[in-house]
Amino acid sequence: MTLGVLGAGQLGQMLGFAATQLGIDTCFFDPAEAPCAERAGPVIRADYADAAALLKLSQRVDVVSFEFENVPPDALRFLSARGLRVAPNADALQHAQDRGIEKALFDRLGIPVAPYRCVDDLAAAQAAVATLGLPAVIKTRRFGYDGKGQVVIRHANEVPAAWKAIGQQPAIIEAWVPFEREVSCLGVRARDGLTRFYPLTTNTHRNGILRLSVPTANDPLQSLAEQHTRKVMDTLDYVGVMAFEFFIVENQLLANEIAPRVHNSGHWTQDGAKTSQFENHVRAVCDLPLGDTTLLRPVAMINLVGQVPDAAVWATHAGHLTLHDYGKSARRGRKVGHLNVWADDNRALAQRAATVARLISPFEDG
Ligand code: AMP
Repeated sequence: MTLGVLGAGQLGQMLGFAATQLGIDTCFFDPAEAPCAERAGPVIRADYADAAALLKLSQRVDVVSFEFENVPPDALRFLSARGLRVAPNADALQHAQDRGIEKALFDRLGIPVAPYRCVDDLAAAQAAVATLGLPAVIKTRRFGYDGKGQVVIRHANEVPAAWKAIGQQPAIIEAWVPFEREVSCLGVRARDGLTRFYPLTTNTHRNGILRLSVPTANDPLQSLAEQHTRKVMDTLDYVGVMAFEFFIVENQLLANEIAPRVHNSGHWTQDGAKTSQFENHVRAVCDLPLGDTTLLRPVAMINLVGQVPDAAVWATHAGHLTLHDYGKSARRGRKVGHLNVWADDNRALAQRAATVARLISPFEDG
């Protein structure tokens, strides 16, 4: 069997590695030159709107998925119209691509969100800020990632500059959430509707980029987060892994956003769960039985941003750590790899994660 993956970045690369271990080949599709998933399989290099190239992909693969949520849904529809199984479906992708549509879905399903307004011009942005209060955050409805396409507004007179900074395009304005924690719920849904969930993961960001993810066994909000995630997956008839990000405020979950794909906050599953998120995504989209999502041991994921330090930096922690190097060139603010770190108990893990984070910090860039 051959899996087609639209997008050939590190998520695609790790999906490809997981597929190989299941005896499945992968063929990628990406417009970029020398994408890093090249290490995991051949890449058709073309634009997502190139019908002839998509046709070529359709002839080489049995099922298609994606690793990048800015793929045009029409590319998925094109492939699906040619009889290919496509998962997640184009409609699910479309919901995740637009913050306005996504928030409306949460509202419809009764999933609490921070107060927000959709705005299409400066006057509407000013009115929204007056209603919602400050601080607030303005986010483009589409194409934002890693904190890009969003600006925090602290004073009403900053609205025109914020509107300009995001490119004067359709946006949402959201009340600032004084969250205690940010968590993500990672779930996987099979074609027959069966779902499995990983333990809730607590995420720490810096400069808008995820730095640290730590799963918690028996989180009191686990079951509610699973209910919300299952509701969204069932409504969208979703197949594959989905990440649902929440803010926790006064022990309540507030929905932030969904990612219709494997997610950075689930990378710890490679070394800390019985089945990784990558393997489970491949299993779901290829109609194989889902794997066990049980947590194996206290584990944490630390992102490597900017450059991959020499292995000598963490040599004393060998045996309790694995490096996942994406093979990308060094660049400020770029995710180039991650470390999964583990220990026998939570206290030892917190110490080890803090020590390793300190060791790599001189190499961090961005
Ligand atoms: P997003 O792209 O919406 O996930 O936002 C990126 C990060 O910005 C989040 O993970 C939060 O750390 C922060 N953030 C976004 N929206 C808010 C908000 N309404 N209140 C507080 N922090 C936020």
